[in-house]
Amino acid sequence: MECPKCDSIMEDVTYHGLTVERCTHCKGIWFPGIEHKQLKEIKGSEIIDIGSPELGKEYDLLEDIHCPVCDTVMDRVPDLFQPHIHFEICIHGHGSFFDAGEFKDFKEETLSDFVRSLAMHLRKKK
Ligand SMILES: [Zn+2]
Repeated sequence: MECPKCDSIMEDVTYHGLTVERCTHCKGIWFPGIEHKQLKEIKGSEIIDIGSPELGKEYDLLEDIHCPVCDTVMDRVPDLFQPHIHFEICIHGHGSFFDAGEFKDFKEETLSDFVRSLAMHLRKKK
């Protein structure tokens, strides 16, 4: 598989029996299913996210990312609990892509993230 962001080769990374693909260049991670949600619950899984968050932020700005499986333009969606994290998701359900550093951030929900998302929900209700 080629990286949807920088076209480099992606390699298999397995953690606790769950296999995802990581780009050998930008270190973005492709989750073919709900592995990001499963891995979030597993202690220590943040070590799969070895890339530099600075580089990840640069790649986060790229638009019109195509799904590496079906080549359809992917949706850019904010995480429900941490709206500052945006990841790309295939509209045909082939998977999602996290830039370097995003999975680590996704995994570590801090108290301030919680308060921020709560405040957002309250604002929406008004
Ligand atoms: Zn890449």
